[in-house]
Amino acid sequence: MTTLAESDLLHMLMDNVPDAIYFKDLQSHFIRINRSVALRFGLSDPAEAIGKTDFDFFSEPHARQAYLDEQDVIRTGRPLIAREEAEYWPDGRVTWASTTKLPLRDRDGAIIGTFGISRDITHRKQTESALRQAKDSAEASQQRTRLIVDSAYDAYVAMDADGVIIDWNHQAELTFGWPREMAVDRLLHELLIPPPYRAAHRAGVELFLKTGEGPLLNRRLEVPALHRDGSEFPVEITISPIRYGAEWIFSAFLHDITERKQAEEEIRKARDAAESASQAKSEFLANMSHEIRTPMNAIIGMTELLLDTPLNPEQRDYLETVKKSSDALLSVINDILDFSKIEAGKLELEYSPFDLRDSLGDMLNTLALRAHQKGLELACHIAPEVPETVIGDPLRLRQILLNLVGNAIKFTERGEVVVDVAFSALAATRSGARDTNALPFGARLTEENADVCILHFTVRDTGIGIPIEKQAMIFEAFAQVDGSTTRRYGGTGLGLAISSRLVRRMEGRIWVESVLGKGSTFHFTSRFARHDAPLKRPPPQEPGRLRGLSVLVVDDNATNRFILAETLTQWQMRPSTVENAAAALQALESAHQAGEPFTLVLLDAHMPEVDGFTLAERIREHPDLTGATVMMLSSACQSIDAARCQELALAAYLTKPIKQTELYRAILAALGSSDTATKSPPIPPPQRVSRMLRVLLAEDNLVNQKLAVRLLEKRGHSIVVASNGREAVEAIERQTFDLVLMDVQMPEMDGLEATAAIRARERGSGRHLPIFAMTAYAMKGDRERCLDAGMDGYISKPVQPRELWEAIDRLIPPDDTAEPEETSAINGVLDREEIQDRVGGDMVLLRELIDVFLTDCPRLWQNLRDALAQGDAHLLSRAAHTLKGSVGNFGAHAAREAAQQLELLAGKGDLMPAIEAARKLETELERLKPVLRELKQSTIQEPQMNTDAQG
Ligand code: ADP
Repeated sequence: MTTLAESDLLHMLMDNVPDAIYFKDLQSHFIRINRSVALRFGLSDPAEAIGKTDFDFFSEPHARQAYLDEQDVIRTGRPLIAREEAEYWPDGRVTWASTTKLPLRDRDGAIIGTFGISRDITHRKQTESALRQAKDSAEASQQRTRLIVDSAYDAYVAMDADGVIIDWNHQAELTFGWPREMAVDRLLHELLIPPPYRAAHRAGVELFLKTGEGPLLNRRLEVPALHRDGSEFPVEITISPIRYGAEWIFSAFLHDITERKQAEEEIRKARDAAESASQAKSEFLANMSHEIRTPMNAIIGMTELLLDTPLNPEQRDYLETVKKSSDALLSVINDILDFSKIEAGKLELEYSPFDLRDSLGDMLNTLALRAHQKGLELACHIAPEVPETVIGDPLRLRQILLNLVGNAIKFTERGEVVVDVAFSALAATRSGARDTNALPFGARLTEENADVCILHFTVRDTGIGIPIEKQAMIFEAFAQVDGSTTRRYGGTGLGLAISSRLVRRMEGRIWVESVLGKGSTFHFTSRFARHDAPLKRPPPQEPGRLRGLSVLVVDDNATNRFILAETLTQWQMRPSTVENAAAALQALESAHQAGEPFTLVLLDAHMPEVDGFTLAERIREHPDLTGATVMMLSSACQSIDAARCQELALAAYLTKPIKQTELYRAILAALGSSDTATKSPPIPPPQRVSRMLRVLLAEDNLVNQKLAVRLLEKRGHSIVVASNGREAVEAIERQTFDLVLMDVQMPEMDGLEATAAIRARERGSGRHLPIFAMTAYAMKGDRERCLDAGMDGYISKPVQPRELWEAIDRLIPPDDTAEPEETSAINGVLDREEIQDRVGGDMVLLRELIDVFLTDCPRLWQNLRDALAQGDAHLLSRAAHTLKGSVGNFGAHAAREAAQQLELLAGKGDLMPAIEAARKLETELERLKPVLRELKQSTIQEPQMNTDAQG
């Protein structure tokens, strides 16, 4: 092995060590550098550096610092060990070195310079710096997250898979009362979850860890939580599981919702209170309805009864005023109740099929008198494509139209009021697209009603009009155009408010168009379901007997001419229209000359210049025109008209507004008898004999009892009174009845319970005793409740006699074949027992009475006819009253009733129906007279009448 010299070893070290080694003199000139330094300085030979300084290779800051350091070593003799320093190069690079500098001594130990060794630590420095930066930013981010979590308004709690709390923010401290340091590391369920829920919580966590399913995770939940003080409170919580390395942690945000819960509770209470207030309101309405209607019932009913007694004209006048005023009051009360009912959301619409044309015709008939008294034309046009029968609420539709037409008449002094119904749209749902939304209120889609139609109604008048700025407001409650106390027109201002709400309920719209001084047109639309009922009118395509017949329509009113022409054309007749008598005669003559005379002439009775009657006379007198069938169309209640028609022997007499079905029937009837042009107006069949019913009346109110008893007795029924439901049930056990009239509200047992008891007894027996509710309740659901309880019908108080009779007749149809049982009637015309009672068995008196009656009757009848002919309602009522008294003496119930009906109608001024009633009375009188003669004869043969004699 070769031994190397010391200097060789040093050289080897100098040339190969990667660290920089250098020797400098006292002024820091390099005296020797190793290869590594030369390499860093970019020198090919280390010798090139000799005599140079750091200033030749580094930029100034580093060179100077190195110089100062070396001078320090020289001065102090102390080494500089492992100093980490930055080296700045002229090209801008910065490198790092760990430098050790030592004093360079001669052999004597004197310092002659320095020497040093530097290791490049740039790489280490860079790594360190990157690490430091990363650490800083991680710390900053953590700090930010902490700040966010700590300043969060929600409590934040994190838990590991073992259920140990690992994080807890500031809000959690506030929410649960535990400081962070006390909460962290504790079991979450022990700290936060009330004992009853702990097991479920643990089970939930375990399920998740096992299956990854957590039905309560990642959702907002409301759960009870535990406070440090032991109290429980509701929190809203969202828990999310987070995968953290191999572990799961669960982080949860919680929010104390005590306040929200309290607010919700308050809202609930407020809603309950509002609901019970509305309940109270509707109960109040029901009670008020009851309380107001009950006395009204007595007032109206007693007034009617009183009007039936002998009165002097002054008394009658006073009472009629009472009657009119109470009727008016009742209608105001009904309006207010109706309005409140709608406002309280208590209005329920009916849903039943009805004939639109008939329903409208009936409604207009009730207003015709008012219109014609003011000299207004009242007409109705229903477009041919409007279905015959629709499904909806006929009563509410009638209520809307009554109000609009009533207003139109009220606010119109001259001209016409025209109702028009047009087909607006059809929501066909029969096939394919079944749009149940298109069905009207509450309707269920079935095969029969699968079509829905929208009808457009208009009510047009030529009245005072409504200023444009008031047109919107009149639909508000209590709003009137003229709100002053001195206003000319009466009213409550509720009619349109009610109508508009009803229209809304029928899913329609209501609006008005009006020109001041010219008139108003009210529009509304409404939804109905179509109902395919068999047609009562001739279908347009029916060839029929009317096809091709020529008709002349004579009317001065253009609307009427238009409507009549359209209707007749629908029936395939050939109408021509003219507007006055002269034109009519001309048309008739030229038709005759052309060899095509008119088959039928429809005349308006009231025309300016030459009226319908005069024209009819001229036609009759005209030698060429005698073959024509003439029908008169006139306004209601012109009894003179009726009499004149009879005189002129016209084929028919119809009152306007004309119902299509009536016109159709009248034309068929008239043409059927056209060969006898002198035939008198059709006379109704004689009145049928009403059955005498055994009626049980259950009613607790004494006045109502008395009233109902009188009303029923007047009809010849026999009545048993029960003061409550229990008595009624007992009465039925003892006795047989034909009918029960049942008050609903009664002490002890109410009408619904009593009905249920009666029905329960009947079960299985095959019997069914008709029961009618009579109640002042007119609230939503009352009718249904009565029907559900097993009642057959419903009459609301105040009981209107006619309504009662109609209801009874509907339920127990008058029987014209059955012999009246258990009554001693002669041919069903009079009551022998009653006569005997009256005369106290005195046959002579009876014969005298009969004689007086038979002599007097023609005169009394004549008086009545005269009164009718003069249209004098007052005289007519008096004459009927006298006749009623006369026939009443003989127990002639049917005749008495006919007279009474006539008297009643005349008393109301209802002259048109009075004509019918007069015919009925005439028929009864004609039946009575021979019976009386027969009776007189029998008293001669049988001086003492037998008490139990049967007719
Ligand atoms: P009422 O008629 O009982 O006062 P409504 O609500 O029926 O109440 O009508 C409100 C108001 O609208 C009436 O008072 C009247 O001023 C006005 N009005 C209604 N219909 C007509 C009409 N056809 N012509 C003129 N004004 C009308």
